[in-house]
Amino acid sequence: MNLVRKQRYQLDSDDEALEVFARGEAILNEPLLNKGTAFSLKERNELGLRGLVPPKVTKIEEQVERVLENYRRKTDPLEKFIFLTSLHDRNETLYYRVLMDNLMEMTPIVYTPVVGAACQQFGHIYRKNRGMYLSMEDKGHIREMFDNWKQDEVDIIVISDGSRILGLGDLGANGMGIPIGKLALYVAGGGIFPCKTLPILLDAGTNNQELLDDPLYLGLNQKRGDEDEYYALVDEFVNAVQDKWPKALIQWEDFTNNHAFPLLNKYREKVLCFNDDIQGTGAVALSGLLGGMRMKGEKLADQRIVFYGAGSAAVGIADMIVAGIVEESGMTDAEARKLFWLIDSQGLVVKNGPRALQAHKVPYARDEKLIDNLLDVIKMIKPTILIGVSGQGQAFSKEIIQEMFKYVKQPIIFSLSNPTSKSECTAEQAYKWTKGKAIFASGSPFDPVRLNGKIYVPGQGNNMFIFPGVGLGASLCQASKITDGMFYTAAKALAEMVTEEELALGTVYPDLSKIRKISATIATGICEMAFAAGLAGIEEPPDIHKFVKDKMYQPVYPKYAAADR
Ligand code: NAD
Repeated sequence: MNLVRKQRYQLDSDDEALEVFARGEAILNEPLLNKGTAFSLKERNELGLRGLVPPKVTKIEEQVERVLENYRRKTDPLEKFIFLTSLHDRNETLYYRVLMDNLMEMTPIVYTPVVGAACQQFGHIYRKNRGMYLSMEDKGHIREMFDNWKQDEVDIIVISDGSRILGLGDLGANGMGIPIGKLALYVAGGGIFPCKTLPILLDAGTNNQELLDDPLYLGLNQKRGDEDEYYALVDEFVNAVQDKWPKALIQWEDFTNNHAFPLLNKYREKVLCFNDDIQGTGAVALSGLLGGMRMKGEKLADQRIVFYGAGSAAVGIADMIVAGIVEESGMTDAEARKLFWLIDSQGLVVKNGPRALQAHKVPYARDEKLIDNLLDVIKMIKPTILIGVSGQGQAFSKEIIQEMFKYVKQPIIFSLSNPTSKSECTAEQAYKWTKGKAIFASGSPFDPVRLNGKIYVPGQGNNMFIFPGVGLGASLCQASKITDGMFYTAAKALAEMVTEEELALGTVYPDLSKIRKISATIATGICEMAFAAGLAGIEEPPDIHKFVKDKMYQPVYPKYAAADR
């Protein structure tokens, strides 16, 4: 099934018209095709649109102005989210034009933090379908269900089972906001074509009683159940993707860590896939730390690193830093891991504690005795780097930060938990409690802080810096798999794009407005690695960077012509 004879990315020139199969209202109702008032008279005549839109033929710039006027009139962030979602569902080209032209203003709305509130309210604000839902009741039917999807080609699938949405816990089918939001960022930041993206929510029930009691909840009304059935459903999904869209990249998103690690380990060598919470987060945090090292003039191998939280993000980040240290210093993995102390909800992760450790924590388990609070760990370890990935808002108290500051002149404090309410401390607190010396980054955005006449610009360790470029590169060169080395390359490329001016303002990440350039650079690196390792599925182009840039989507209306059926 396809809406047009050839896709935009297949046209030879800007003058060539897309041959459209639909007519009239059907075109206006298809967001991938709709141009609203921007259809030319010729198109209106040819496609049965005459009289269905107001007489004036407008340029996209005028439509953008109208959208922004309406958007900026809204004061409630959730209303802004709903407004942008409606635009997304009405006219994708215009949506992406607005989003890309106003990325800094709108990313916090279409993604974290506002997407978190939108997921919590999903059943209440639901307007129109986007993407696909695969539930336990669809067992045995997934492959045939994929034939219901409107496009023949899919490059990127983001799938979540809604079990651990941001730091908000189990939101069941409400988690669909996350795959949709991530794919919007893939398009805006990475230049993936919107028609080649597919958000999927795998509904295996929810253990969130509040949702099960909510009459407007849209997911299966049942608790999460049998593990074998769950893994069988995921397996059926992966096999169906391999059959229908063998080149598609699968991004695992917001799975609880008891499933996230086994799923990644089961499929990473077999199919093109990655887990953004583990590998993407690892790369973006490593990049921020490399920026911190540039600021301090130090090396990762000389740090003592405490993680508050020992889940997917923590282990993803720790593994990536280990890779960085090994690369930088020649230490072994085991030597590098001695620089890490992880704390989970039970306390310091230790070898001989009273409980069995989950497999992902074992490589980081320490010989020390169990300490059950962060302050005492800080006193004992005197860390130079403290990373919060616990989902516990305000866990970094004044006493904790000041204790760390006693031993380290420029403590690195990354409060990465999302959304903002879950951040372990705010930017202002980190700067205030360290007399402006902290090198701070967060998961959700914080405004610049003025302290004693100086402005500090906190960096946002946004996964958006990494995953669109990785996905773009892997999908363009048709890589057979994504390796950790590719994420390490992406982290280094990102760190190198931070300017001296940005470092001077205290920020360890480049300006997000440069995201397209960043994604093109990262994608180029990914392609180069894939070609060098023999993992690419296409012939190597003479100029990889040009090849990448030329293939990136731009939100411009194509010309349309009626297709002869
Ligand atoms: P997870 O559920 O896998 O891990 C959470 C960890 O926190 C677990 O180890 C748990 O034991 C620990 N924890 C819970 N309560 C605690 C307490 N009171 N004290 C100490 N530890 C406690 O979740 P995750 O995927 O690792 O994500 C964690 C947080 O990191 C989320 O808020 C998520 O939004 C955020 N995150 C941020 C980024 C980013 O900034 N780029 C990326 C991914 C995840």
